Amino acid sequence: MSGFTTRAVHSGQEPDRLTGAVIPPIYQTSTFVQDGINVLRDGHEYSRGSNPTRNGFEEQLCALEGGLRGFAFASGIACEDALLRAVLRPGDHVVLGGDGYGGTNRLITRVLAPWRIGHTPVDVTDLDEVRQAFVAETKVVWVETPTNPRLGIADLAALTELAHEHGALLVVDNTFASPYLQRPLEFGADVVVHSTTKYVGGHSDVLGGAVVVADREWAVEPVNGFSPGATLAELVGFQQFAGGAVAGPQDSYLAARGLKTLSLRMERHQDNAGRIAEWLTQRPEVSQVLYPGLPDHPGHELAARQMEGFGGMVSFRLRGGESAARRFAESTLMYKLSVSLGGVESLICWPSEMTHGSVVGTPQAVPTDLVRLSVGIEDLEDHLADLERAFTS
Ligand SMILES: *Cc1c(COP(=O)(O)O)cnc(C)c1O
Repeated sequence: MSGFTTRAVHSGQEPDRLTGAVIPPIYQTSTFVQDGINVLRDGHEYSRGSNPTRNGFEEQLCALEGGLRGFAFASGIACEDALLRAVLRPGDHVVLGGDGYGGTNRLITRVLAPWRIGHTPVDVTDLDEVRQAFVAETKVVWVETPTNPRLGIADLAALTELAHEHGALLVVDNTFASPYLQRPLEFGADVVVHSTTKYVGGHSDVLGGAVVVADREWAVEPVNGFSPGATLAELVGFQQFAGGAVAGPQDSYLAARGLKTLSLRMERHQDNAGRIAEWLTQRPEVSQVLYPGLPDHPGHELAARQMEGFGGMVSFRLRGGESAARRFAESTLMYKLSVSLGGVESLICWPSEMTHGSVVGTPQAVPTDLVRLSVGIEDLEDHLADLERAFTS
């Protein structure tokens, strides 16, 4: 198999067969002409079922995660919803990483709970706590690593073993690491999900989500018309088509274009992030820096084994508490105050009531003295000058 960046540039991105256009066209079409009733050209009938631009992106991402099939959706949350409805039935239960994306928590606790999907929040960096959270109905263990926003590291090989012992799937939200730094399927995970809105797209100009599945059968009640021996690819593919939250051709094109430069961007993101994390440890205003690249981070050694770098996200806590954290987040200039992450430009957020507003007042609430940086690719001196200014303003 060719190298990562070669696959990022070429997998699913072959020149157009008809015209030779080096960049595959954006097939901005809803439907495809048939050469006779149900005689389809290249298998395309209607863009909810398949569209060459979307399919090209799905193949490209799948080649990078090392999966069997990829499926692209209109947003990260849409892909999570489709995946969970594909593999769960009423009465099932999810072991859910507690330090994670607030929207995933909202989906499971407020959208799926009324359909009798139970869940138990856990600290995914604590294997004993995870072990104790399983019940007979557990069908999915849902993990983000690095976690959001505390940047804890979960042991993917150990979690795979635990999930499989209990007859459950291990689903890994790989948005923070991206496939360049971490490939969960290599550790035995069954499914990878992405908000392609973030590092995959990489330019904060498109929303998207994707599911990549391993080659695996999954027994669910055959209410979809599938026999119990259906594969994850069949189940998710059916849900994508029948539920319909697909990525459009323009969005698929933007995500595919971004993905080609993932390795270059990630190198720069994490080079900047590592230096900024170190610099923050020297600041008297900071009580704790949360970055897995720092040697005293509790997940440092695990991250060094499991990842090929430590990523571009840095969180830190301020001695001055909530008011200092709020003031800091509102004081940077180059770092834009926004939710989201993973774009070339730097973003700052106060997760407590921005990204994690949906868990305020629950045990998953984020400490109010915590600030999260999505470190962009700008020049290091400009990062440090901006952060310095915010400390002293
Ligand atoms: C943003 C994000 C999501 C949700 O994705 P959308 O594209 O916003 O729907 C899911 N997981 C993680 C880790 C995210 O950062």
